[in-house]
Amino acid sequence: TFITIEGPDGAGKSTAAAHIRDSLEARGIDCLLTREPGGSVIAEQIRSILLDPGNTAMDPVTEAILYAAARRQHLAEVVRPALESGRTVICDRFVDSSLAYQGIGRNLGFDLVWQINEPAIQDTMPDVTILVDIGEEEARRRVKARGVTDRFDLEDRMFRERVHQGFLETARRFPDRIAVIDGEQSEKQVAADSLRVLEQRGLL
Ligand code: C5P
Repeated sequence: TFITIEGPDGAGKSTAAAHIRDSLEARGIDCLLTREPGGSVIAEQIRSILLDPGNTAMDPVTEAILYAAARRQHLAEVVRPALESGRTVICDRFVDSSLAYQGIGRNLGFDLVWQINEPAIQDTMPDVTILVDIGEEEARRRVKARGVTDRFDLEDRMFRERVHQGFLETARRFPDRIAVIDGEQSEKQVAADSLRVLEQRGLL
C-alpha cells in the first residue's frame, strides 16, 4: 500500500505522517516512512540544490524537472523495492506537491507538470493521499514560529495562497484518491481523521 501525505508548509504533514506510521505499526503493519524531495542519497543531493537559499535564479521548469528527478530516484531506490517486498509506504509529499507548487504556485500549469512527472512516476501512483489543508494565515503563523529554514519560507503571500488553492484543485481533480482533512485542528484530531480515512478506504 502506498500512502502519501500532502499539504502546504506548516500544515503538520510530517507530524501526521509519523502518527499514521505509529498507528499502522501498532496494528502489526510493516511501514516505511519516507519523504520528498529526498529519501535517498542522490535524491537528498537534489533536495539540497532545490532548497538552497542562494539559488534565487532557479528557472521554474528547471525546478519542476529537479523535483521529478528526485522523485524518480526515490521511487526506484526506495519506494518500489519497499512496496514489492510487501511493506506499506508512507510518503511525506509526492506529485501533488509538484502540481500545487510548480503547477499553480509557479504558474507552469497542471498539464506541463504532469508531463514532466510521467516518466518519473510511471505507474506508481498512491493508493490514497491525505491532504492536510490549512489556510494561508495559520500556515504563515506556524512557519514563522518555526524560523526560516529554506528559500521557500521567504516566498510571498500570493505564492503561498496560490499553492493552497493548487492543493485544493488537486483534490477536485482526483477525488477518488485524495481525502482532504482540516489541518487547523489539534494534532490529535488530525491524526484521528487520517486514520479514519484509511479505515474508510479499507486500508486498516
Ligand atoms: O515538506 P518539506 O518542508 O520537506 O518541503 C521542503 C520545501 O520544498 C518546502 O518549503 C516546500 O515549500 C518546497 N516544495 C516545493 N515544491 C515541491 C515540494 C516541496 O516548492 N514540489
